[in-house]
Amino acid sequence: MKIILLGAPGAGKGTIAKLLTEFDGSVQISTGDILRSIVKEGNVLGQKAKEYMDRGDLVPDSLIMDIMESRLQEPDCQNGFILDGFPRTIPQAEALAKLLARLKIKLDFVANLDAPREVILDRLTTRRTCCNPSCQAIYNVKNNPPNEDGTCTLCNHQTIQRDDETEEAISNRLKTYHQKTAPLNDYYEKEGLLKIFLSLIADDTIADIIKALKA
Ligand code: AMP
Repeated sequence: MKIILLGAPGAGKGTIAKLLTEFDGSVQISTGDILRSIVKEGNVLGQKAKEYMDRGDLVPDSLIMDIMESRLQEPDCQNGFILDGFPRTIPQAEALAKLLARLKIKLDFVANLDAPREVILDRLTTRRTCCNPSCQAIYNVKNNPPNEDGTCTLCNHQTIQRDDETEEAISNRLKTYHQKTAPLNDYYEKEGLLKIFLSLIADDTIADIIKALKA
Protein backbone atom coordinates (compact mmCIF):
# COMPACT_ATOMS: atom_id res chain seq x y z
CA MET A 1 0.00 0.00 0.00
CA LYS A 2 1.03 3.60 -0.52
CA ILE A 3 -0.96 5.77 1.83
CA ILE A 4 -0.75 8.92 3.91
CA LEU A 5 -2.21 8.96 7.44
CA LEU A 6 -3.54 12.36 8.47
CA GLY A 7 -5.06 13.30 11.83
CA ALA A 8 -4.49 15.35 14.96
CA PRO A 9 -1.77 14.36 17.45
CA GLY A 10 -3.31 11.48 19.40
CA ALA A 11 -5.66 10.45 16.57
CA GLY A 12 -3.88 7.09 16.44
CA LYS A 13 -1.59 7.51 13.40
CA GLY A 14 1.42 5.75 14.97
CA THR A 15 -0.60 2.82 16.32
CA ILE A 16 -2.55 2.33 13.08
CA ALA A 17 0.60 2.66 10.92
CA LYS A 18 2.44 0.01 12.97
CA LEU A 19 -0.51 -2.41 12.67
CA LEU A 20 -0.85 -1.77 8.92
CA THR A 21 2.80 -2.76 8.33
CA GLU A 22 1.80 -6.30 9.37
CA PHE A 23 -0.76 -6.44 6.56
CA ASP A 24 1.50 -6.43 3.49
CA GLY A 25 5.04 -5.56 4.56
CA SER A 26 4.70 -1.86 3.74
CA VAL A 27 7.04 0.27 5.87
CA GLN A 28 5.94 2.89 8.38
CA ILE A 29 7.64 6.22 7.79
CA SER A 30 7.10 8.45 10.80
CA THR A 31 8.80 11.83 10.56
CA GLY A 32 8.29 12.17 14.35
CA ASP A 33 10.21 8.89 14.96
CA ILE A 34 12.95 9.94 12.51
CA LEU A 35 13.29 13.33 14.22
CA ARG A 36 13.41 11.74 17.70
CA SER A 37 16.26 9.48 16.49
CA ILE A 38 18.12 12.55 15.16
CA VAL A 39 17.58 14.30 18.52
CA LYS A 40 19.04 11.24 20.33
CA GLU A 41 22.21 11.56 18.22
CA GLY A 42 22.67 14.90 19.99
CA ASN A 43 24.34 16.82 17.13
CA VAL A 44 23.60 20.47 16.26
CA LEU A 45 20.78 19.52 13.88
CA GLY A 46 19.19 17.38 16.61
CA GLN A 47 19.47 20.13 19.21
CA LYS A 48 17.80 22.61 16.83
CA ALA A 49 14.98 20.15 16.01
CA LYS A 50 14.42 19.42 19.73
CA GLU A 51 13.73 23.11 20.43
CA TYR A 52 10.82 23.13 17.96
CA MET A 53 9.53 19.73 19.06
CA ASP A 54 9.57 20.42 22.81
CA ARG A 55 7.50 23.57 22.25
CA GLY A 56 5.00 21.60 20.14
CA ASP A 57 5.93 23.60 17.01
CA LEU A 58 6.65 22.09 13.59
CA VAL A 59 10.27 21.84 12.47
CA PRO A 60 11.01 23.74 9.22
CA ASP A 61 9.60 22.28 5.99
CA SER A 62 13.05 22.28 4.33
CA LEU A 63 14.48 19.88 6.94
CA ILE A 64 11.51 17.52 6.62
CA MET A 65 11.70 17.53 2.82
CA ASP A 66 15.43 16.67 2.90
CA ILE A 67 14.66 13.74 5.20
CA MET A 68 11.73 12.50 3.09
CA GLU A 69 13.45 12.91 -0.26
CA SER A 70 16.12 10.40 0.72
CA ARG A 71 13.84 8.15 2.84
CA LEU A 72 11.33 7.55 0.01
CA GLN A 73 14.16 6.39 -2.27
CA GLU A 74 15.37 3.68 0.11
CA PRO A 75 14.79 0.14 -1.27
CA ASP A 76 12.34 -0.93 1.48
CA CYS A 77 9.82 1.65 0.21
CA GLN A 78 9.32 -0.31 -3.00
CA ASN A 79 6.94 -2.74 -1.23
CA GLY A 80 4.83 0.20 -0.12
CA PHE A 81 4.78 2.76 2.67
CA ILE A 82 2.54 4.36 5.25
CA LEU A 83 3.37 8.02 5.81
CA ASP A 84 2.71 8.85 9.46
CA GLY A 85 2.88 12.52 10.43
CA PHE A 86 3.94 13.74 6.99
CA PRO A 87 2.95 15.95 5.26
CA ARG A 88 2.00 18.40 8.03
CA THR A 89 1.71 21.64 6.00
CA ILE A 90 0.44 22.65 2.55
CA PRO A 91 4.02 23.43 1.32
CA GLN A 92 5.08 19.90 2.43
CA ALA A 93 2.08 18.40 0.56
CA GLU A 94 2.96 20.37 -2.58
CA ALA A 95 6.62 19.34 -2.37
CA LEU A 96 5.57 15.72 -1.79
CA ALA A 97 3.32 15.77 -4.88
CA LYS A 98 6.31 16.90 -6.99
CA LEU A 99 8.61 14.30 -5.40
CA LEU A 100 6.12 11.46 -5.98
CA ALA A 101 5.59 12.54 -9.61
CA ARG A 102 9.38 12.53 -10.12
CA LEU A 103 9.72 9.07 -8.54
CA LYS A 104 6.65 7.85 -10.53
CA ILE A 105 4.85 6.79 -7.34
CA LYS A 106 1.04 6.88 -7.17
CA LEU A 107 -0.74 7.03 -3.78
CA ASP A 108 -3.68 4.70 -3.05
CA PHE A 109 -5.36 7.32 -0.87
CA VAL A 110 -5.01 9.69 2.07
CA ALA A 111 -6.63 8.39 5.27
CA ASN A 112 -7.80 10.99 7.75
CA LEU A 113 -8.10 9.41 11.22
CA ASP A 114 -10.90 11.07 13.10
CA ALA A 115 -11.41 10.92 16.88
CA PRO A 116 -13.28 13.15 19.38
CA ARG A 117 -11.20 15.77 21.22
CA GLU A 118 -11.71 14.12 24.67
CA VAL A 119 -10.36 10.83 23.30
CA ILE A 120 -7.36 12.60 21.78
CA LEU A 121 -6.51 14.44 25.02
CA ASP A 122 -6.86 11.25 27.06
CA ARG A 123 -4.62 9.31 24.66
CA LEU A 124 -1.90 11.98 24.68
CA THR A 125 -1.73 12.29 28.46
CA THR A 126 -1.69 8.52 29.07
CA ARG A 127 0.75 7.64 26.26
CA ARG A 128 4.16 6.13 26.95
CA THR A 129 6.78 5.62 24.23
CA CYS A 130 9.74 3.23 24.20
CA CYS A 131 12.95 5.29 24.39
CA ASN A 132 14.87 2.89 22.11
CA PRO A 133 15.20 4.88 18.82
CA SER A 134 14.85 1.74 16.69
CA CYS A 135 11.70 0.58 18.56
CA GLN A 136 9.61 3.59 19.73
CA ALA A 137 6.68 1.25 20.55
CA ILE A 138 3.61 3.10 21.81
CA TYR A 139 1.78 2.16 25.04
CA ASN A 140 -1.14 3.52 26.99
CA VAL A 141 -1.02 3.28 30.77
CA LYS A 142 -4.77 2.53 30.92
CA ASN A 143 -5.46 -0.03 28.21
CA ASN A 144 -2.13 -1.15 26.72
CA PRO A 145 0.46 -0.78 29.49
CA PRO A 146 4.18 -1.55 29.24
CA ASN A 147 5.76 -4.12 31.63
CA GLU A 148 5.09 -3.47 35.34
CA ASP A 149 8.52 -1.87 35.80
CA GLY A 150 7.81 0.51 32.91
CA THR A 151 9.99 -1.29 30.38
CA CYS A 152 9.00 -2.04 26.78
CA THR A 153 7.44 -5.48 26.23
CA LEU A 154 9.25 -5.75 22.88
CA CYS A 155 12.82 -4.66 23.59
CA ASN A 156 12.98 -4.10 27.39
CA HIS A 157 14.18 -0.49 27.11
CA GLN A 158 12.49 2.02 29.42
CA THR A 159 9.24 3.63 28.26
CA ILE A 160 8.89 7.38 28.81
CA GLN A 161 6.43 10.22 28.60
CA ARG A 162 7.66 12.34 25.68
CA ASP A 163 8.96 15.87 26.37
CA ASP A 164 6.20 17.22 24.10
CA GLU A 165 3.48 15.51 26.17
CA THR A 166 3.25 18.16 28.87
CA GLU A 167 -0.13 19.92 29.04
CA GLU A 168 1.33 23.12 27.55
CA ALA A 169 3.07 21.38 24.64
CA ILE A 170 -0.01 19.25 23.90
CA SER A 171 -2.22 22.32 23.72
CA ASN A 172 0.30 24.01 21.37
CA ARG A 173 0.52 20.88 19.19
CA LEU A 174 -3.27 20.82 18.83
CA LYS A 175 -3.30 24.53 17.96
CA THR A 176 -0.54 23.99 15.38
CA TYR A 177 -2.49 21.05 13.97
CA HIS A 178 -5.64 23.13 13.46
CA GLN A 179 -3.72 26.04 11.91
CA LYS A 180 -1.25 24.23 9.67
CA THR A 181 -2.22 20.58 9.18
CA ALA A 182 -6.04 20.49 9.15
CA PRO A 183 -6.12 22.45 5.84
CA LEU A 184 -4.57 19.34 4.22
CA ASN A 185 -7.98 17.67 4.43
CA ASP A 186 -9.39 20.18 1.93
CA TYR A 187 -6.24 19.94 -0.17
CA TYR A 188 -6.52 16.14 -0.54
CA GLU A 189 -10.31 16.27 -0.88
CA LYS A 190 -9.83 18.48 -3.94
CA GLU A 191 -7.24 16.00 -5.27
CA GLY A 192 -9.92 13.27 -4.90
CA LEU A 193 -7.65 11.29 -2.54
CA LEU A 194 -9.23 11.82 0.89
CA LYS A 195 -11.02 9.09 2.87
CA ILE A 196 -12.16 9.56 6.48
CA PHE A 197 -11.91 6.74 9.05
CA LEU A 198 -13.22 6.74 12.61
CA SER A 199 -10.28 6.04 14.94
CA LEU A 200 -11.68 4.70 18.22
CA ILE A 201 -10.88 0.98 18.24
CA ALA A 202 -7.67 0.17 16.35
CA ASP A 203 -8.82 -3.22 14.99
CA ASP A 204 -11.97 -1.66 13.51
CA THR A 205 -10.00 1.18 11.90
CA ILE A 206 -7.51 -1.31 10.41
CA ALA A 207 -10.38 -3.41 8.99
CA ASP A 208 -11.96 -0.30 7.42
CA ILE A 209 -8.67 0.82 5.85
CA ILE A 210 -7.95 -2.65 4.45
CA LYS A 211 -11.47 -2.84 3.02
CA ALA A 212 -10.91 0.52 1.30
CA LEU A 213 -7.57 -0.68 -0.10
CA LYS A 214 -9.20 -3.78 -1.57
CA ALA A 215 -12.16 -1.85 -3.03
P1 AMP B 1 4.75 13.17 16.00
O1 AMP B 1 5.51 12.04 16.60
O2 AMP B 1 4.28 12.88 14.60
O3 AMP B 1 3.66 13.69 16.89
O4 AMP B 1 5.80 14.38 15.84
C1 AMP B 1 6.44 14.94 16.97
C2 AMP B 1 6.99 16.31 16.61
O5 AMP B 1 7.94 16.18 15.53
C3 AMP B 1 5.95 17.29 16.07
O6 AMP B 1 5.25 17.95 17.11
C4 AMP B 1 6.84 18.25 15.29
O7 AMP B 1 7.57 19.10 16.14
C5 AMP B 1 7.84 17.29 14.64
N1 AMP B 1 7.37 16.80 13.33
C6 AMP B 1 7.02 15.52 13.01
N2 AMP B 1 6.65 15.44 11.72
C7 AMP B 1 6.77 16.69 11.21
C8 AMP B 1 6.53 17.25 9.93
N3 AMP B 1 6.08 16.51 8.89
N4 AMP B 1 6.77 18.58 9.75
C9 AMP B 1 7.23 19.34 10.77
N5 AMP B 1 7.47 18.88 12.01
C10 AMP B 1 7.25 17.55 12.23
